[in-house]
Amino acid sequence: MKGIGTSSGIALGKVLIYEEPKITVEENKAKDIDREIARLNKAIGRAVEEIQQLYVRTLENVGEDEAEIFNAHKMMAEDPEFIEGVKSKIRDEKVTAEWAVKQVAEEYISIFENIEDEYLRERALDLKDVSQRLLRILLGIESMDLSILKEECIIVAEDLTPSDTAQMNKDMILGIVTELGGTTSHTSIIARSLEIPAIAGVEDIIGTVKNGDIIIIDGSKGTITLEPSKKDIEAYKTKKKEQEDFRFKLQEMRGKGSISKDGTKVEIAANIGNHRDLNSVIENDGEGVGLFRTEFLYMDNNRLPTEEEQFKAYRFVAEGLEGKPVIIRTLDVGGDKDIPYMNLPKEMNPFLGYRAIRLCLDRTDIFKTQLRALLRASAFGNIKIMFPMISNIEEVRLAKRQLEEAKEELTKENIEFNPNIEVGIMVEIPAVAIHSDIFAKEIDFFSIGTNDLIQYTVAVDRGNQHISNLYNQYHPSVLKLIKMTIENGHKEGIWVGMCGEAAGDEKLIPLLLAMGLDEFSMNPSSMLKARYIIKNTSKEEIEPMLDKILSLPTAEDVERFIDENIVK
Ligand code: PEP
Ligand code: MG
Repeated sequence: MKGIGTSSGIALGKVLIYEEPKITVEENKAKDIDREIARLNKAIGRAVEEIQQLYVRTLENVGEDEAEIFNAHKMMAEDPEFIEGVKSKIRDEKVTAEWAVKQVAEEYISIFENIEDEYLRERALDLKDVSQRLLRILLGIESMDLSILKEECIIVAEDLTPSDTAQMNKDMILGIVTELGGTTSHTSIIARSLEIPAIAGVEDIIGTVKNGDIIIIDGSKGTITLEPSKKDIEAYKTKKKEQEDFRFKLQEMRGKGSISKDGTKVEIAANIGNHRDLNSVIENDGEGVGLFRTEFLYMDNNRLPTEEEQFKAYRFVAEGLEGKPVIIRTLDVGGDKDIPYMNLPKEMNPFLGYRAIRLCLDRTDIFKTQLRALLRASAFGNIKIMFPMISNIEEVRLAKRQLEEAKEELTKENIEFNPNIEVGIMVEIPAVAIHSDIFAKEIDFFSIGTNDLIQYTVAVDRGNQHISNLYNQYHPSVLKLIKMTIENGHKEGIWVGMCGEAAGDEKLIPLLLAMGLDEFSMNPSSMLKARYIIKNTSKEEIEPMLDKILSLPTAEDVERFIDENIVK
């Protein structure tokens, strides 16, 4: 069977089917309205207490970011609009507290479920979690407690709420398989942090397995082996041992520079979306931040973040990295990243539309606030500014003009900043890669954004499952654009990095090293492995193969060539 691997690693163990306690609520008229309101208030109090306990447990056992989920739950449970909605229903329709909670929660959930943005859509699950908790308390139903499991098991469920996942006893849970959910659901996020292999989106797994069945799951591939043979079990054991040995080996990479076998030094940096990700950069020994995606500061809010709020977040990361470079990208909203309160126009082709630098140059009020915050934070660390979605030189000049204006304002106000702050652009549109010799004269660095560069080069929407086979980082045209950008950057004396997912691709790292890439920025959890690859690759050995690779006809040929001659 197959699903979407959401947390890597392999596991072999006994199935435990986890089913939510059945909660059925019938429409019942209330005999005493005041009593229902009092029951509601009491249930909210108890729910908040439970959520608080989960917050503390998650903070201690998992981490701050993951614990934040329960702060959000607490806010949902205490949301005045939600509570008032429930109370009005009790009063107006003279119904019980549980019926009113169910009705109002369902209204909210259906709004969330119909939002196009995947991240916001998955918040429906958080709301379900909170309302189920309230209903369970109101109905006096006990829940299955995943914190007191007596035996190691692989949990199989239709779906798990973040609360289920957070209260799991990590030592007893070998893996998680769910019928619903996706990569960005909070359950997957927690599973990754706990390093528990997990697979989501497995159709009818509950109807297929029963309690006590032995299964093998592979969270990297998303595969489930039912009734494994002796041979499957042997293969599993060998792979598990290899994975453990390798994990151990990677720890030895800490504190070592990223220098290739033949002495080329590069930088391995982290992509982050939040100032709270700083910990994972430090834990994985990042040499800096190559991409701080600031849009999440805007998305996790119901209004624009102020200059002060942004300044604090940027300063926190810059100070935390003690002089190591931190590249902060200005707002890259639009495309697949919506900010509901900005009321951006609906477009036929959002990826080709009003987004990122295009929007910022139009809404200079928003842009200027961010530039001021960035400049102010630059007095506290090694901050560099990066503009996204640049497609022509004029945009670079206009953006730099805004930056100069922000500098002038701060100078007048006697506020400190780094006047020589480096400014770079993302190379994520083919027009820029092709013309990179000219763009290089205008800025201090390039960072190649392959996630978008691929989609615009091969005209394949990066999020469309139906054509995902056409979206390929090994496409020779994409590789040619990357090589061209690096060479042109170097000719003009600027450094060139990469912050798209391709920078952390094990098979591409040797090629990128040979092309001369100076900085590789990726998910923090991939950094030590990337350093391991760099250390075991000789740039001089790969360089002579580049012409041959770039002249291969297809992406499949490129990948096969790498498999046979480089990664082996
Ligand atoms: C990219 O396009 O490669 C990139 C790093 O930016 P994002 O994924 O945020 O679009
Ligand atoms: Mg991009």
